[in-house]
This record gives sequence, structure tokens and C-alpha cells, in this order.
Amino acid sequence: SKTQVGFIGLGNMGNPMAKNLMKHGYPVIASDVFPESCKELRELGAQILDSPADVADKADRIVTMLPSSPNVIDVYTGPNGILKRVKKGSLLIDSSTIDPAVSKEMAVAAEKRGAVFMDAPVSGGVGAATSGKLTFMVGGPEEEFNAAKELLSCMGANVVYCGQVGTGQAAKICNNMLLAIGMIGTAETMNLGIRLGLDPKLLAKILNMSSGRCWSSDTYNPVPGVMEGVPSANNYQGGFGTTLMAKDLGLAQNTATNTKTPVPLGSLAHQIYRMMCARGYASKDFSSVFQFLREEEGQ
Ligand code: NAD
Repeated sequence: SKTQVGFIGLGNMGNPMAKNLMKHGYPVIASDVFPESCKELRELGAQILDSPADVADKADRIVTMLPSSPNVIDVYTGPNGILKRVKKGSLLIDSSTIDPAVSKEMAVAAEKRGAVFMDAPVSGGVGAATSGKLTFMVGGPEEEFNAAKELLSCMGANVVYCGQVGTGQAAKICNNMLLAIGMIGTAETMNLGIRLGLDPKLLAKILNMSSGRCWSSDTYNPVPGVMEGVPSANNYQGGFGTTLMAKDLGLAQNTATNTKTPVPLGSLAHQIYRMMCARGYASKDFSSVFQFLREEEGQ
């Protein structure tokens, strides 16, 4: 029978991911600072413990899915953190999207305790997490990749090895910077077309058979009424929050600064998402930039 797997962070993503581990027969031992997050997993038979340290006491494979860098630092190196009681030889996999420099720090700290830390951020939203179709971008020692893949393939359709620790985050940050730029570009283009008298559905159809086509135009169109089953069809609820996108663009800016890389459109996208957070869009899906641009133009 399969040995237990620890899971820390049972939010929008962690909750369905942990459920998929259970579906594949892994007993899950979980923890989250927010008791309400643990409810569903407990009902499904997962053991819920008080702290990451308690989880590390019992499981030698642990997956973490937390909002941002400070939470990851706390969960690994804090007073009740995993590394306080980690077993030698443990495999620690962090799927949060965070600063790659923090992933590297966590790997060094884990190594001092005889454990292996890998970064494995994901692409694909709550839908992909639920259906087990996430893409994992994995960084860390290559000889540990297969052990990580055994668990990650229960939660994802693609598990891609990227290189040393932190490179999974690098891939994720690059993807999300392009995603944000593409979304803003799609939103402003659709808005211009509408102002020029085009029907938004027709314009989307033309873009999607032309060279302007992108994921934001054909799979996640930001204009209400163009597509069904996307956040724009549901008042921008659910999906990928503007706050999280602003965080990822901030990470892109940090890494660009550190490597002296010009990213002018990434920088502008960051500022646009920061403005949205300050103006009431924080908890809406990031495709609400379409609505934001309409307001800016004084509808
Ligand atoms: P979330 O805020 O819904 O969930 C995070 C969970 O972590 C919460 O339940 C919170 O209580 C818990 N937590 C925070 N600090 C903790 C601590 N110290 N100890 C234990 N638990 C703690 O976030 P999410 O949407 O699940 O996203 C998680 C990560 O995945 C983020 O880095 C995000 O950028 C990334 N991501 C999200 C999506 C998406 O569509 N939501 C897609 C891809 C990647």
C-alpha cells in the first residue's frame, strides 16, 4: 500500500490537488492555518494536523501550495515549520508560485537537514487542478525528478523537468508575464474594435482565425458575451485573481532587475495590475482588465 503524503495549503488549488492524491490511493496528512480550508479534506478521510512541523513528523514526502514567498518561508523555516522536524531523506515539493531566489534558499536550508527541496509551480487554474490536468514545471536535483513525478503525475497531465532548483519558478514567471501582456493586449484590442462598431463575437472569431490569436482571445476571452464558461461570463468571479497576477508580475520584475533584463511590457503590465488591485478589482479574475479599461475611458 502507498505511504502517506503530507500536504500544506488547502486553498483554491491545494484542496483539489490533495483530493487527487487521495484518489490515487495516497493517504494524505494535511495542515492549513485557516481551519475552514481543511473541512472537505477531513470529511474525505485525510488526517488534519496543527502545523507543518507535525506533518513533517509523520510524512517523508510533503507538497506545499501556498500564496506567496513569505508564506513559504514561514511554512518551511518558521518556528512550527517543516524543517524543525523533517525526517532525513524527505522529499519536499513546493508548488506555490514564488521568487526563485526563495526556492534556492529553501533548498539550501532543507539540504542542511538532510532533505531535498524541489520547486514545482503549476500552470492551469482551479479547473485543471480539479481534473488532474495541471502542468508542473520542476526544478531541483535531476536524480530526484522521478520520485517527484510519481506524486505530481497524480495531479497533472504534464510534469516537465526544467533544471536546477528555481528553474521551475523561472518558467512559470515567464509564462505568466506573457499571459498578462497577452490578456491586456486582447482586452484593449477588443475594446477598440467594439468602439469601431464591430460585434465582439465576430471580432473574436476573426482574431482567432488570424495572426492576433492567443490564449486570451480564443480560450479565455475577457469580453462578456463572447464565450461561455469563462470568468468574463460570470462577472469575473472565480479563475485567477488579479492580486495573484500582480504578485507574479512583481516576481518577473524582481528577476528582470536582478539579471539586468529589459522587460518594458512586463513592467507596464505589472503597473496596470497594481492599479486594478488598488481600484476594487483585487479579488476579480485577471481578465477583468477589460472592464477596467472601459472605466478608464469614462464610459
Ligand atoms: P489560496 O489563497 O486559495 O490558498 C492558499 C492556502 O494556503 C490558503 O488556504 C491559506 O490558508 C494557506 N496558508 C497560507 N499561509 C499558510 C501557512 N503559513 N501555513 C499553512 N497554510 C497556509 O491560493 P491558491 O489559488 O490555491 O494559489 C496557491 C498558489 O498557486 C499561489 O502561489 C498561486 O499564484 C498559484 N497558482 C494559482 C492558480 C489559480 O488559478 N488559483 C493557478 C496557478 C498557480
